[in-house]
Amino acid sequence: MSVKVCKFGGSSLASAAQVRKVAAIVQSQAARRFVVPSAPGRRDKHDQKVTDLLYLCHEHAKQELPFDQVFGRIRERFTSMIAELGLSLDLGPALDQAEAGIRQAAAAGADFAASRGEFLNGQVLAAALGFEFVDAADVIFFNARGRLDAPRTYAALAERLNGNTKGYVVPGFYGRLPDGGIKTFSRGGSDVTGAIVARGVGADVYENWTDVSGVLMTDPRVVENPPTIEVITYRELRELAYMGATVLHEDAVFPVREAGIPVNIRNTNAPEHPGTMIVPMSTNPPTHAGTISGIAGRKDFTVIAIEKAMMNAEIGFGRRVLSVLERYGVSFEHMPSGIDTLCIVVDDASVSGKLDEIVADLKAECQPDSMEVSPDMALIATVGRGMTAFPGMAAKLFTALAGAKVNIRMIDQGSSELNIIVGVAAADFETAVRAIYQAFVK
Ligand code: ASP
Repeated sequence: MSVKVCKFGGSSLASAAQVRKVAAIVQSQAARRFVVPSAPGRRDKHDQKVTDLLYLCHEHAKQELPFDQVFGRIRERFTSMIAELGLSLDLGPALDQAEAGIRQAAAAGADFAASRGEFLNGQVLAAALGFEFVDAADVIFFNARGRLDAPRTYAALAERLNGNTKGYVVPGFYGRLPDGGIKTFSRGGSDVTGAIVARGVGADVYENWTDVSGVLMTDPRVVENPPTIEVITYRELRELAYMGATVLHEDAVFPVREAGIPVNIRNTNAPEHPGTMIVPMSTNPPTHAGTISGIAGRKDFTVIAIEKAMMNAEIGFGRRVLSVLERYGVSFEHMPSGIDTLCIVVDDASVSGKLDEIVADLKAECQPDSMEVSPDMALIATVGRGMTAFPGMAAKLFTALAGAKVNIRMIDQGSSELNIIVGVAAADFETAVRAIYQAFVK
């Protein structure tokens, strides 16, 4: 029988009504045996996430200020949820322990406090589902440097989640350090736990349940009602995520990608929608002529264009350019080049306050014929596995941009051929995205 790991985000578990939806989803398929919850999120836009309240408790505890009022709000949220769900669970002792622990661990950092949202919520969800609760501190391990101890974690998951129990709930977001302390992943890290559990139990699918029906083809703030991507490969997703499309926590992709486990992004509030499937390329996902998977972009780039006659014949030119960047601690994002030209694309933030010095050093050390710095550039990636397979995609893209009177300042077709990146003035960003969308999607 197939096995699914289901991670539910904070909005999916924000209230008793949401927990009921989650229970219905889990119980509708016997394969959904492993559940990874976040802490309760916002119920409406004036509400606060339990995790944020816990960070607040920690801030108070650190300064030896009382935090019983803030903790009282957390307590109230859990107890009213349990009452509304009609569960016989007594979370009182666990809540007391959490409150005392936040005070005791205050000097050690915020992670213990932050992790309690998932720890407590996991117990509520386990009671609601009739599943066994497994503390993440017993199965997710970090090494002394704070990195995931993968061998120990996967061995523990395989052993601990291997019983005849109907199902297990493993809270997201945290694990244990070798000294016994609790450590969390970065914010949104329950996605990472879900991916690790999926790999640890050898799941057939990692379902990531959130409040949107999958990944949209482009940013809905730029294009009205873009459709959902049905199937996308990990590599394509990486290209879109790099350009700012937020889908999964970045670190969540690696464990499942390495193991070839597909991820299904689903909507708790629309469980009938199939969402988006993220799959390895090796599964040969359907690829249709002339289609793309998505468009994403970012506005915060600077392009340094360097020109020098016979650059192609000058040994060490590229190295000299890059060593200047390295000296200033700047990594480049892209570096398209021509015969006598080289463009370096950097993130605005990474050169902020040092651009003039970098340019002066490049002039002194590389002796270019000319150099042009263009701030306020936007990059737009048009991504699709169809790009490699069918001719005419680039022509279509450039025709669309020309038709919209957008001046293309830079072109970079990644060596993967999965995408074509164009650089345009930030002011043209929205027009350009809409033009590409019109050409390929609508
Ligand atoms: N509760 C944590 C956060 O708010 C982790 C998560 O939800 O994934 O960041």
